[in-house]
Amino acid sequence: MSAPVSSNGSCARAVVRVDELRKRYEAGVAALDGVSFSVAPGEFVAVLGPSGAGKTTLFRCMTGLTRADGGSVLVRGQDICRSRGLALRAARQEMALIFQQFNLVRRLTAHHNVLAGRLAHVPAWRVMLHRFARPDRQRALACLDAVGLLERAWTRADQLSGGQQQRVAIARALAQEASVILADEPVASLDPESAATVLDTLRAVARSGVAVVASLHQVHLAVAYAERIIALRSGRVVEDAPAGRLDERTLEQIYARTAPAGTVPERPHCSSAPQSLTL
Ligand code: ADP
Ligand code: MG
Repeated sequence: MSAPVSSNGSCARAVVRVDELRKRYEAGVAALDGVSFSVAPGEFVAVLGPSGAGKTTLFRCMTGLTRADGGSVLVRGQDICRSRGLALRAARQEMALIFQQFNLVRRLTAHHNVLAGRLAHVPAWRVMLHRFARPDRQRALACLDAVGLLERAWTRADQLSGGQQQRVAIARALAQEASVILADEPVASLDPESAATVLDTLRAVARSGVAVVASLHQVHLAVAYAERIIALRSGRVVEDAPAGRLDERTLEQIYARTAPAGTVPERPHCSSAPQSLTL
């Protein structure tokens, strides 16, 4: 289900709206240079761009992990960039971040890792004593079931494959009950088969109504899985279009380097056909 998207990338029923977001690091690099777009519930958006384009900075600013220098990130009407205290906490709860390296507690079970997604919903004493209430424990199991890992609930995270660990991280995001899942290079460390399973899972999550924004390096995966592609280069949005409209010229725009005259810019591997899916 895709929302109507206007030419400037804003959609009528956005759950998250990024407007003119800017971030410059001390070294003087403009990592984000006025980024604007919106995402609707149920959309699966891929953010494409070469290394250094600003993808990680974008996700960190959207979740409030890094303070933007300017612009706004509105989630359910609350500006992450200007909120403080409880309001910031409430807004951040709406955004779950998934990392390339999964960020699970390796010695804890899959179930326990998913329970961490409930932290914002339970009293601090329960967290301290690891005494989660039955409804939270059941919800964590349901989230593992949703990503196809119920039978691995009691397995330690470090005994799961990379793809399974990433699906536990997705289950943790589901347990958080976030409106938006931001996944920063979620399949960059995975073999193609595991990558397909993880992207299938993210697509299913989007279809359940959550807005999913995933940064990807591989153009063919973005085209195969996302409904919409936002291309970043040097901290700017150079394309925001339905995936089916991504053509050769657009790829040139995204990946063109300031290469010396006469040399061919580095291009990503791009297969002509989407990979087969396995779930
Ligand atoms: P991507 O995730 O697309 O590779 P990043 O957001 O990591 O891009 O980086 C965008 C730009 O900001 C790059 O030029 C990078 O070198 C710079 N950058 C990222 N993090 C920092 C930092 N902590 N300090 C200084 N510069 C940074
Ligand atoms: Mg990055």
